[in-house]
Amino acid sequence: TPVLQLIDLEQHFPGPRRKTVRAVDGISLSLAKGETVGLVGESGSGKTTVGRTALRLYRPTGGRILFEGNDVSSLRPSQLDRVLRRRSAMIFQNPSTSLNPYMRIIDSLMEPLEIQAVGTRASRYETAMAMLEKVGLDPRSAVRYPRELSGGQRQRIGVGRALMLEPSLIVADEPTAALDVSVQAQVINLMADLQAERGLAYLFISHELSLVRHISHRVAVMYLGRIVEVGTAQEIFDEPLHPYTVSLASMTRRDGRKIVPRGDIPSPIDPPSGCHFHTRCPIARKVCATDDPAAVTTPTGRSVMCHFPGELSLPADERPPVQL
Ligand code: SF4
Repeated sequence: TPVLQLIDLEQHFPGPRRKTVRAVDGISLSLAKGETVGLVGESGSGKTTVGRTALRLYRPTGGRILFEGNDVSSLRPSQLDRVLRRRSAMIFQNPSTSLNPYMRIIDSLMEPLEIQAVGTRASRYETAMAMLEKVGLDPRSAVRYPRELSGGQRQRIGVGRALMLEPSLIVADEPTAALDVSVQAQVINLMADLQAERGLAYLFISHELSLVRHISHRVAVMYLGRIVEVGTAQEIFDEPLHPYTVSLASMTRRDGRKIVPRGDIPSPIDPPSGCHFHTRCPIARKVCATDDPAAVTTPTGRSVMCHFPGELSLPADERPPVQL
């Protein structure tokens, strides 16, 4: 059973002038135990909304969310606690704002256990101290406040806090965006070690493509509320099939030969007809403006949503991509 399955998931919000913001517009995606799936796309593509909806911070307006085989799409908060909240967690972008500045580190770590009424105060304290060690912080940090720690240390606490309930799924939303490059690597390595040890599944949301390539087993590419391509990290970055993926993959190349889509991403209110990408696609044809391409999945699980997959490709003489 996959840890998480999103099936035709929709998240529509009321927009200005009684219009609808189609933030997530019918996506399907699954995560297996121990797997990292990277979710990439421009700002405004709907990545964060997918992560938050998957953890039921928002109730979806359509489609289904299966967590460890249980449909959690329309559960009430009390039921969510039992099925989803004890087994999943989120790591936020900015550790400075995601930790309560008035709580000592030890209390921040113990809080998820307290909310879910797990164990006694003594056992919660012991678990929190063990977690402090696990994420590589000095036990003396326990009595400090977030402002007394560096950004990297705060994000380690963010990772530790997410792990306190021993979840099977973590949604990490730009977890290293606020950190220096050297500290980024430490946090990423910590996440990878903990995954290997505990079989965690990560939905890793990021706009840092080299990082996504480095950490992900599979990558899903979002454009304007839809997933336009899913494949292994190697397929997505070395042999992309969708023209939008080709442009993203070209951004990770060292020789500067980038394929940049025309203009800006359109608004998710009234998205373009047919293929949403047709207003920016370098190989768009007439049919693209009228007919919505269906997602085609290969027997190996690769999926692409384009009338002409593979027609635009990366230049053949590209040098190897940048490695972290
Ligand atoms: Fe481009 Fe047409 Fe494919 Fe859309 S369907 S990505 S417009 S070629």
